[in-house]
Amino acid sequence: MITRLLTPEVEVKVKKYKCSRCGHLWERRAKKDNVLPLTCPNCKSPYWNRERIKKASKEDQKK
Ligand SMILES: [Zn+2]
Repeated sequence: MITRLLTPEVEVKVKKYKCSRCGHLWERRAKKDNVLPLTCPNCKSPYWNRERIKKASKEDQKK
């Protein structure tokens, strides 16, 4: 009987996400690339990965 040594280590890709709303940091196994969580698991905000963009002031628009 011939045995062969295997390396049981499996590389698991874990992506970390940070909620821009509440600052919650969590990690998730990346099943598919480029698939983002829909909501933050902490505050349930669907806009967790979006920055609040300030409206340009009227003074800047005049230029
Ligand atoms: Zn959050």
